[in-house]
Amino acid sequence: MGYVLQLYCNRCNKAKEYRLGQGINDRKIENILEHFGLPERKRINDILKIYDTETVWNYQKVLGICRKCGEVEDIPRLQILRENEKTVTIKPSCRCGGVYRETDGMEEVQVLCPRCHSVFTKEIKGIWD
Ligand SMILES: [Zn+2]
Ligand SMILES: [Zn+2]
Repeated sequence: MGYVLQLYCNRCNKAKEYRLGQGINDRKIENILEHFGLPERKRINDILKIYDTETVWNYQKVLGICRKCGEVEDIPRLQILRENEKTVTIKPSCRCGGVYRETDGMEEVQVLCPRCHSVFTKEIKGIWD
């Protein structure tokens, strides 16, 4: 089950809703692939070709905060885990080319507005499945 997080900036009135977490359709790898662009899809397919059924994966929509431009987006994140190996994390890049820092939004104490750098007000607006 996922939840909808609203971020609202009291200074410049920027407001946006983000769908985070995992939906009922996100348990199948075929559906998960659709959340990604071509480069990420290819990477996932290449990894899963090598790995067998012992491979465990974890998919969620997370809040991505761009390390370069500060943009905040709900981004798909797939983690592929295998015993004795480092976890592989697959996620898109920001439009500016920067790398997203990932958070579930609630654990992050302060999320800053990319436009005016004030602290966003957070509110859970509901759940989705
Ligand atoms: Zn703002
Ligand atoms: Zn960026």
